[in-house]
Amino acid sequence: MRDVLVRDPLPDVDVDRALDATRRVVEAVLGLLVEPMGRAHGEDWTIRDRTGAVRGVVRVDRWADRAERLSRTDRPGHTPLADQTPWAGSSSEALPVATVAIRCRVDGSGRSLTGPHQLQATLHEVGHALNHVLLGGRTTLVTGLDYLPVERLDLMSMWFDKWALHPGFLRAVLTDPGADSVARVIWSRCIEFRRTLPTRVVVAAVDHALHRSTSGTFAETWTALDHRFGIAQLAAEEDVLEHLAWPMPLANPGGEFSMLWAYAATSTTFAPFLDHDYDHDHPDHADGIFSSSVDPTAPSVPVDPVAAFAFHRTREDHSR
Ligand SMILES: [Zn+2]
Repeated sequence: MRDVLVRDPLPDVDVDRALDATRRVVEAVLGLLVEPMGRAHGEDWTIRDRTGAVRGVVRVDRWADRAERLSRTDRPGHTPLADQTPWAGSSSEALPVATVAIRCRVDGSGRSLTGPHQLQATLHEVGHALNHVLLGGRTTLVTGLDYLPVERLDLMSMWFDKWALHPGFLRAVLTDPGADSVARVIWSRCIEFRRTLPTRVVVAAVDHALHRSTSGTFAETWTALDHRFGIAQLAAEEDVLEHLAWPMPLANPGGEFSMLWAYAATSTTFAPFLDHDYDHDHPDHADGIFSSSVDPTAPSVPVDPVAAFAFHRTREDHSR
């Protein structure tokens, strides 16, 4: 895929238009009010609910001086560390603040530009940031997202990052909004998904099996799972081993499981939004989608594991 994209690069994303369209989604779907306030290298979004009460702040930081790092990290399968959302506001008096970093470069006319991969990563982090702000409970040591069970941690973030596959949203944010250009961006995101998902499914299964048992080596676990599910047909043993040794899976066992849960759940909850413009008022579709994300005491909603594959296959077909 890299060869194809080097010959014919994907169109750029205009960062100002992308942030504007993202704010419109937040207002149209969640019924919140977003008030942007400019700062030197980014902006703060004050988030108000329907009653006008301030719920918190989402801080959007632009990393415009990291041009050469952008080219190294803005590629499939690599979410730059700068997209991680640091949580703040853990004292009982302070309102929650969540920071989203967006890597971009500035062109000759002063426009901030980024790539489609970074667009999807930024939408994902905006979802996390809003989730953190909207979760009410906080004490000194437990704040926002800490309250959610592991399978719900990525429900809002993955729902938001699916706008990077929405034709109307892409037309609004790409520097070249032509039909071919929009289709190529959707195609590239879907191909990446198809390339990485089978490995992630196997990583989740091996991770689960390893952490569940008190004995046995990686090789024994691999062989047992292969006899049962034929995992060797889906992923290479050395790829899975390498993946499990990354800092994130070591620090967060079960992380892939929560990602896969969210992939499936949000493929179902996002699908109706494909039929509408991104800034269309969506109260009938939006009702209840995020209740288990913003209320830790609500039950988790079961997911359809096949939905993630079906959603991306239809997106890929539409991009042809
Ligand atoms: Zn996430």
